[in-house]
Amino acid sequence: MKPPALGLYIHVPFCTNQCDYCHFYKQSPSQSAIQQFFQNIQQERDYWQFVWEQRPFETIFWGGGNPSCLIPDELIALGNLCPTSKILKEWSVEVSPTAINQAKLQALHSLPVTRLSMGIQSFNPTILHQLGRRQTPTDAFKAYDALRSAGFNNINLDLIFPPDFSDLTLWRQDLETAISLNPEHLSTYCLTYETTSGPFTPQHHQTVDIDKEANFYLFTWDFLNAHGYQQYEVSNFAKPGFECRHNKNTWLMQEWLGWGPSAASQWNHQRFQNSTHLPYAPGPHNSTPSLTPDELCKDHLIFGLRLCEGINLSELQKQFPSVNLERYQSLWQHFCAQGLTTLNHSILRCTQRGMLLADSLAVAILLR
Ligand code: SF4
Repeated sequence: MKPPALGLYIHVPFCTNQCDYCHFYKQSPSQSAIQQFFQNIQQERDYWQFVWEQRPFETIFWGGGNPSCLIPDELIALGNLCPTSKILKEWSVEVSPTAINQAKLQALHSLPVTRLSMGIQSFNPTILHQLGRRQTPTDAFKAYDALRSAGFNNINLDLIFPPDFSDLTLWRQDLETAISLNPEHLSTYCLTYETTSGPFTPQHHQTVDIDKEANFYLFTWDFLNAHGYQQYEVSNFAKPGFECRHNKNTWLMQEWLGWGPSAASQWNHQRFQNSTHLPYAPGPHNSTPSLTPDELCKDHLIFGLRLCEGINLSELQKQFPSVNLERYQSLWQHFCAQGLTTLNHSILRCTQRGMLLADSLAVAILLR
């Protein structure tokens, strides 16, 4: 059987922003911390050489933190630590409108990074303020123009639903502004606060009306599909041919190595996470348990149901011959009877109603 696609994720743990909703591991970009980070990435590159020499990476993704807060020379140096080959199909980097500039974009383009993902979140100054984002709408427009001028032809914009799903008109304006820029990809996320330090607390968030939330999702899916952005995952939309390969491989439970503090890996039936503190020891630890076929199969089902293409149950059974997929049969019947999924020719796929309840479906699968 063909080995799964292998991706490389690098967590760049530096950011100078203080967004209220941020739950990513990050720290200030001091010279000593950046130096330590590079030493650690070099160690991980060396440690994993036996893997990437045999199975070159098909995708690379730099996330954070904020990779675009590195200076051009540091971006080039980090790029030179990434093993590349002819089979590399996509190289994505997250950037922020206030940190990116022409020199950094030229550095990324020369590596060659092929795809940029920019955290816009909103074009509305009031919502940006509520989110604790320091950027202005003008920053976002200028940065987008700079990305295009630098020659990038595969751009994602991240948008966040307004806090508490308060105003569909404002959200519609954000979507209209986003598509007027003509990016190749859009991601829309629901806000969750991890701490009570921001103006909105988790308790506050819990008061959201579920019907109102569903209304936002359904509006978004219909609106973006009608404007040429095909939904391929609960929160992700792309023009034809511009789905994010790296993320899709992750949702399809392929394999990936995560380098950098807090980065997670899935490799050789193991899932493990680096320490959040620099420096850290690369590789799985002695205590890292292997994933059982049953656990991996469940993850296939859970993440597969979030994809619009659904899951081919016959193929999944071939992939996991030791797992008794028959035991889910009554669950699929229940989902189909409730209008949450369809099951045709072995393809189990969520309906729109099922997509809205994807988290509940995941819990039901986990409990089987
Ligand atoms: S820019 Fe990203 S990493 Fe930085 S604080 Fe905001 S959400 Fe967190």
